[in-house]
Amino acid sequence: MDEALASRLRAEGIRDERVIAAMARLERARFIPRRWRAEAEADRPVPIGEGQTTSQPSLVALMTEALALGGDERVLEVGTGSGYQAAVLAPLCAELFSVERLPALAARARALLQGELGLVNVRLRVGDGAEGWPDEAPFDRILLTAATPEVPPALCAQLAPGGRLLAPVGPPEGPQWLRLIQSGWDGRLHGKDLLPVRFVPLVIGPTGAAPGG
Ligand code: SAH
Repeated sequence: MDEALASRLRAEGIRDERVIAAMARLERARFIPRRWRAEAEADRPVPIGEGQTTSQPSLVALMTEALALGGDERVLEVGTGSGYQAAVLAPLCAELFSVERLPALAARARALLQGELGLVNVRLRVGDGAEGWPDEAPFDRILLTAATPEVPPALCAQLAPGGRLLAPVGPPEGPQWLRLIQSGWDGRLHGKDLLPVRFVPLVIGPTGAAPGG
């Protein structure tokens, strides 16, 4: 257990002890390529290769907490990246589906999540996450880890009634706000902005890669 991280998250205002435990059990350095690994301890975004970054742990914790997971949800993540956020989510939900458009990142995340960590409730796919995962929809929770000026309509359509969608919304160069969209039991959507953030952009369109399994 990374007690230092746990205390830091509590000091940052994270209250959900399940989120804190899930994060304290994980070694963030494993998700970061060797050349940037020395930066893994800091509460800062860190490069993960291919021009992408993984968010600072305090923000990963805040986003995970904002999803308000009870444990029986089916969750869609758009932007697998390093797989760190996915590894935090997996033990807190029933099933995690995660889509990444860059094959090299997806391959590394797959080896870590399904191989080394043996997470049996994680499914990964290479493709455009803006289209969601139609075959597995609807989802109780949807998390975008890349910023978009507008939440793609396909993702809103794949949100189950009573569900929550969390996304950094804004242009690539900012300002971006982390927006929480809640679906009422009548399926109507209500959004509120939580805090200003800075994410890499959501890139729409084909990746030129064959879809993964
Ligand atoms: N959740 C990741 C954060 C990675 S950064 C982590 O914990 O490390 C955001 C990721 O979104 C990048 O890997 C980027 O390639 C990916 N991405 C950008 N646009 C995408 C799209 N349309 N579909 C799927 N992934 C996308």
